[in-house]
Formats: sequence, structure tokens, C-alpha cells
Amino acid sequence: MSATLRIYQVAVPAPLYREFDYVASMSLTTGARVRVPFGRRELVGVVLGEVARSELPRGRLKPITQPLDASAILPPSILSLLRWAANYYHHPLGEVIHAALPVRLRQGRAPVAAGVKVWTLTPEGRAVDFQALKRAPAQKHMLEVLAEALDGLDQVQLARISPRSSAVLKALRAKGWVSSHQRELRPVMNGDKQLAPELNRGQKFAVSSLLAGLKGFHPFLLHGVTGSGKTEVYLSVIGEILAQGKQALVLVPEISLTPQLVGRFERRFRLPIAVLHSGLNEQERLNAWVKAAEGNAPIVLGTRSAVFTPLRNPGLIVVDEEHDASYKQQDGFRYSARDIAVMRAAREEIPIILGSATPSLESLKNARQETYTLIELPQRTGCAVMPDVRLLDMRRLKPSEGLSFPLREALTDRLKKNEQSILFLNRRGFSPVWMCYDCGWVAPCQRCDAQLTLHQKRNKLLCHHCGAEAKVIQRCPSCQGENLHPLGEGTERVEEALQKFFPQARIERIDRDSTARRGALEEKLRRVHEGEADILVGTQMLSKGHDFPNVTLVGILNADQGLYGTDFRSGERLFQLIMQVSGRAGRADKPGEVLIQTWHPEHPLFAALARHDFHGYAEYALSERREAGYPPYSHLALLRAESPAPGAAIEFLLAARTLAVRLSPAKDVQILSPLPAPMERRAGRYRAQMLVQSSRRAPLHDFLEQWVMQLSEAKFSKKTRWSLDVDPLDMY
Ligand code: ADP
Ligand code: ZN
Ligand code: ZN
Repeated sequence: MSATLRIYQVAVPAPLYREFDYVASMSLTTGARVRVPFGRRELVGVVLGEVARSELPRGRLKPITQPLDASAILPPSILSLLRWAANYYHHPLGEVIHAALPVRLRQGRAPVAAGVKVWTLTPEGRAVDFQALKRAPAQKHMLEVLAEALDGLDQVQLARISPRSSAVLKALRAKGWVSSHQRELRPVMNGDKQLAPELNRGQKFAVSSLLAGLKGFHPFLLHGVTGSGKTEVYLSVIGEILAQGKQALVLVPEISLTPQLVGRFERRFRLPIAVLHSGLNEQERLNAWVKAAEGNAPIVLGTRSAVFTPLRNPGLIVVDEEHDASYKQQDGFRYSARDIAVMRAAREEIPIILGSATPSLESLKNARQETYTLIELPQRTGCAVMPDVRLLDMRRLKPSEGLSFPLREALTDRLKKNEQSILFLNRRGFSPVWMCYDCGWVAPCQRCDAQLTLHQKRNKLLCHHCGAEAKVIQRCPSCQGENLHPLGEGTERVEEALQKFFPQARIERIDRDSTARRGALEEKLRRVHEGEADILVGTQMLSKGHDFPNVTLVGILNADQGLYGTDFRSGERLFQLIMQVSGRAGRADKPGEVLIQTWHPEHPLFAALARHDFHGYAEYALSERREAGYPPYSHLALLRAESPAPGAAIEFLLAARTLAVRLSPAKDVQILSPLPAPMERRAGRYRAQMLVQSSRRAPLHDFLEQWVMQLSEAKFSKKTRWSLDVDPLDMY
């Protein structure tokens, strides 16, 4: 009997740096899922392969409980990519594989696409005279939209039409005018196919350079100024890939922020597009994943974790806004989807396009060294020109509620001309500080080294770091006075001030608070597009790829935030952010203007912004990095630790440091001293970090491999929560 038993290596989702051996009498495919006993639990693991022998004696090997897949659920190319990632990020392979699978597959469900609920008009509904529904505009609008969608619309599409779509549908169903059924996949969009515009010279040149590199692995960096038509270039190249019968994987930072992008792809190709983002429910996510893996979705559009989606017939990867920090996973398995995408393209031997108006310094350096082919789109499309950028010297201008006089004048001017304006302020809530004006006391978070933000609409003080809520106290706990007031501005306060200055203006606030409800953001963006809003005030949500042709003014309210930040990347971030927000101005035939309020108008970052001089700024920032020995001129890893007990995190890091020194790494590898995190206490935990820096990747990697292995086995590491971040993006 036992002679017919085979031994399989299985990756299980456990925080352990090793694989586990199990026995089975049947033959199992590498990449297939199995249920296995693990401790007292049962887990879903993935078969890594058959092995001739195990370190454990046969008698101690447990049998596989149940095979779940007849064939591999992860193709060899993805499995090998995940092995590489586990190795590179020094994260347990079982957890890496787990992170790459849709939740339904992690739970052991079958990899089949199930139905999506789809709504259509009933014959009775078609017979309704829509004009008679004037007093129920939401219902009327819903019926009109459904009348045009021959295949019906799913929940996600309907939520885009109305934030109250479920209530409206319920009412319509009660009247017998709409019905729902299960449909397997998201349909092709109805309506006319959108034709591609005639490409301009720059775009044509970009497309022909890209097409010339379509065979085999070829990384491109497409640097195109805001509004230069990068998306058109992607669409054009993707058209070619589809014509070859291959699939394209397109990664974007956040789909919910740019719903019009999905529509643009759908209208252009009229093909089923698998969309993968966090707004989906688990079944929708699985459907899209299966469609991609089976080759039934020619285009796969998704956020960060979509980089792991298997493709039957991969032809191209696009990473749009490649500089965006949301490509970095910040907890658990900390990876960069952009970097993994490049590695994936190399393994699948396909081209990859990294696109941005503000490429990361890492990618720019790769392009300069000709590791990536650099393609530039230096001009905007059509007759659009880059906006005029003016610095407002706040040392001389007294702002009222955060708005300087020239900015208020510019807003008045746009309102007169019926043009739209954007005000950018990277701070939500009413004011960042609730203060006693008698003694200077400010309301602190009890669990963080931070102050509470006043949210006036909710009448609460909130911590933006841990989510804690407190009452807006009216008596100072320090001096018992009652002279408490807000200090400083957030988006809520600016919205209120705008209403006061411009009572006639239609104002939309766009930040995490005002768009928390499902469908709310879509509704706001629709109003902006249809000219039902005059002024938009919001956070960095406004910086993301929006194309509002009637916006001609952008005001940056607190440009200096981050100018002298503690993180070596804060300058780069600020530059990217302002350039992206500014890029929303003057994208069509009307010229745009950008007004930047700053107390440091002499800073070289602003001079470069005023000249739209990305390369000038990059030069300056790169030389700074070279001198300081920071990336892209060195490689970093950050060991983080946290504990509810003060001092424990630092103690852990000191012990980890001793261990590191004993490993005597190559002399390129420097282990810096442990430091408390810039905000040491967060959510009641004390945090500390220790940086490891190396001019060369290989010795750093070799060192980390041994170090992490020893750390995970060391007794002292069991008491403290710790994690390693390879290529950290935030040094918080
Ligand atoms: P980017 O992605 O570089 O910001 P987009 O691709 O969104 O730019 O293009 C900006 C705007 O210009 C869009 O409204 C797009 O439809 C339009 N556009 C792009 N290329 C052309 C072209 N060749 N002719 C006319 N309009 C174009
Ligand atoms: Zn006081
Ligand atoms: Zn807090």
C-alpha cells in the first residue's frame, strides 16, 4: 500500500518560511489546490510539486485530505513569479500564493464563474411613458438607461447611474417594470463603438516605437505630460495586441476614482473587459479572474493585486501612472505591483509599458541607463497647451479662510465665464486642530502621538491615524476655559468658506468623507462632467487622471505640506502631486491657469513646476539622492517592529541588530541604528524601525535571506510584532 503513496510539497498560508510535505495516493498537478491538515486546522494549500523524499520519516507525513482541482489553478509562469516574489520580498511563499488568489479560491471554492445579477426592463416597463414620470426623476432616469441597455445592467453599472440604485430598483420592481436574472459575465457595452481619433505626430511616433518592440520582453517608459494622450497610445497598442489574438493586462492605481476609464476601454473595443478592483464582491472578483485565466477576457483592467491574474495568452502589460504609491502593498505581503509587473513581463516574454506624466525616479533612472526604452510625449493633444503656473507668495498675502485674494479673484473670473475650478487641499475634515485659545491646549488622540481633526458635519473629533472618535468638548481640560476653536483648514472648512464668498456657485467637495457612500463619487463626477458644478474642492482624489475639459483654474492651497518632510521621498511626492493636480487645468481648447499658495516661493521645486520642467526637477532630486546615498542609488530594506509596551520595539530591533552583525554581511551592507518611528505611538502601539542600506542588490539580498530566517526562528522575535519591508516607500 504505502509503496504507491507519493510525496507532495504543499504551500500553505502560514507565516512560516518553509513548505510542507504531505502524502497522497493519487497523482496531483503542480499548481492545483488541496485541502490539508495543519496543526488542529485544515487549510487550503497549493501543490508545489512531487518530491522523491521528505526530511520527515514517512510515518509522520500526513495525508492530503482532499484534492480540489483536477488541473493547475495557477499556471507555471505565475507560480514561478510568486516564488520569485516570495524570495525577493522575503515573505513566506504560502502567504504570497494566498495573497495572489481571489478569496473564493482561498476558501476552496471551485474556479467557475457564477452568475451576476442583471436588471432589465419587463415588457410592461417598456410600455411605460417615461415622460409621465416627471415627479420621480430617479425612476425615470433608471428606466431610460435600462431601455437602452439591451443586455441589461449589473449592480456595479447601476450604482454608477444612481447612488440610490437599489432603492430605485426595488420601487420599479414593485410596479412590475423591471426584473432581474443571473447572467454569467459582464456584457459588452451597448451603443456606438467609439472610433479612435487621428493620432498626432507625437502619439504616432510613440505607437510606432512601441509596436516595433512588441516581440519578446521589452520594457518602455512612456513619459507624457498631463493631457498628452497617453491613454490613446495604450488603446492603439492594445488594439494591435488584440488583433494578434492575445490579452492585455492594464494596471491602474484606483478604478473607483476614474470610472470613465473603464467606459473608454469598453466603448473603444466593445469586447468583454474583466475589471478587478476592491469594489467588487467576491463572486464578481472570481468571475473576472476566471474570465482572464480562461482567455475569455481580451482585456484585464485592475488595481494592484490584478498583477497576479493568470492570462491564457498574455501579450502586453500596461502600468498606468506607474509612480503612484497605491501600487505598493503596505501591510502583510508588502510588494510593489509595478516592480512585479516588470518581472512578470520578463518571465512571460512580453512587452510592458510604464506610463506617467511624473515617472518615479527609479523608473527614470532605468530609462536613462537604457534598461527601459524612454518614449516622450512632450505636448498636449489638439490645441491644448500647458497651463500657466503662478506662485502666490503667502508671506505677503493674508489669506481669509485659507484663500488668498488673487485666488478668490481668479475664482470670480471663472464663475463669470462659466468655467470650472478645482481647489486642492490635502487635508480632509474641517480643521486639523481643536484648540484652547486661552492656554494653547490641543485635543490629542488618546492612542496616537497625533492631534484630532475636527469634522464639523459629523460634529466629532476624529483621529486620521487610528480612526478613534471623540466628542467635540467645549471646556478645556487643562485650564477649564471655554474658549475652544478650530485652527487651520481642511476641505470641509474651505467648502464652507467658498459658499460664503460665492453664494451662487455650485460647489462639490470630493474627499474620502464625501464619497464614502457607494455611488456617491460617480454621481459627483457625473455632475462635474455635465457642467452641474462650478468649483470642486478636494484632496488628492482630484489628482488622479480625471479629464474635465471645462476646468481652467486649479488652486493649490497648502502646497508647502511635505516640502520639508522627514521622508526623503516627500519632495518627489509633492512635485508629482502638484503636477498631477495642475494637469487637470486647461486640457481642452481653453487655456488653463494654476495658482500655488506658498510660503516658500524660492524653493527650486516650485520654480521647476512653474516651468513644467519635470526633467529639471528630476535632475535636482536625483543629485540629492546620489549624494545622500538613497534610492535609486542604493537599495533599502526596513525592519519594523511594534508593541503595546514602550521600549519593546526598540529592544527587539537591538537584538535583531546583534543577530545581523553576527552574520557579518558584506561591507556594502550597512545596518543603521534602530529609531522610533516618526509618529512613535499609533493605535496604542509603540513603533520603531531600522534601516538596512546597500549600494548593491545582491549582497543585501543574501544578507536579508539569512537574517529573516534566523529572526523568524529566534525566541525573542515571538513577543514583538515585526515585519520586513523590501524597497520601502514610506518611512513612517
Ligand atoms: P493622458 O492620459 O496623457 O492624460 P488622455 O489620453 O486622457 O491623456 O487624453 C487627453 C484628452 O485628449 C482626452 O480627452 C482624449 O480623448 C483627447 N485625445 C487624446 N488623443 C487625441 C488625439 N490624437 N486627437 C484628439 N483628441 C485626443
Ligand atoms: Zn485651556
Ligand atoms: Zn489615533
